[in-house]
Amino acid sequence: MNQALITQAVITKTLPLVEVHGVCQTYDKGSAGKLVVLDQVGLTLVSGEIVGLLGRSGSGKSTLLRSIAGLIRPSEGAITFEGKAVSGTPDGIAMVFQSFALFPWLTVLQNVELGLEAQGVSPAERRRRALSAIDLIGLDGFENAYPKELSGGMRQRVGLARALVVHPKVLLMDEPFSALDVLTAETLRTDLLDLWSEGRMPIESILMVTHNIEEAVLMCDRVLIFSSNPGRVVAELKIDLPQPRNRLDPAFRALVE
Ligand code: ADP
Ligand code: MG
Repeated sequence: MNQALITQAVITKTLPLVEVHGVCQTYDKGSAGKLVVLDQVGLTLVSGEIVGLLGRSGSGKSTLLRSIAGLIRPSEGAITFEGKAVSGTPDGIAMVFQSFALFPWLTVLQNVELGLEAQGVSPAERRRRALSAIDLIGLDGFENAYPKELSGGMRQRVGLARALVVHPKVLLMDEPFSALDVLTAETLRTDLLDLWSEGRMPIESILMVTHNIEEAVLMCDRVLIFSSNPGRVVAELKIDLPQPRNRLDPAFRALVE
């Protein structure tokens, strides 16, 4: 390979997937004045990493994640995905919500298929991909169940399947385990990390919001520390734990399952 091609390959590999520059978000609180939630937030997400965003409740983490997903437009600043300004909800970015955000009147399969609604995929292809995402995330056999028939952990698996079905490059997770009990959260975290480390999810990077320090350290390659009032990235921790991470001792697992 000639030098130009090598240089090109190196540049392509290290190009950020997501770049956030100078993002500010202000909410109008009527007679209470303006609330500055995000102040000059900057971050970069590159391929191959799981990045945590750790901060207190109310510090603006969800607001930031929703801005990156294109669900809201920040008051100021720039957000790019693969070099292009994020406008609307970009293909290639999918999000998982703390409270699952499932439609209770739809089955698991229908909820997951909804992830592909806006993508112009044929009904047959939609079904095939939804079934494959459901299988991947461990919900095989529950395709026709309704959310109310499922445990919290299984509901969040539906949320994950709905995100994975679009084959996103970037997965945004907003406190995905905080509504779950400790053991359920641990099992789901482990399953997710297994899929990630075995390369079975076609995802290049994960940005995960949490207020759980242990979870951040166990799951992430880097953890961004988010301040409150206003929200801003103030520090970064690089985590260097041996793989595989986040495992309960198998004997303990056998006892609790
Ligand atoms: P976090 O996810 O870190 O808990 P949020 O981003 O949900 O924080 O919220 C940050 C602050 O912004 C909170 O004070 C919240 O009340 C306020 N906020 C969030 N969304 C809105 C909105 N749509 N309108 C007005 N205020 C909001
Ligand atoms: Mg939040």
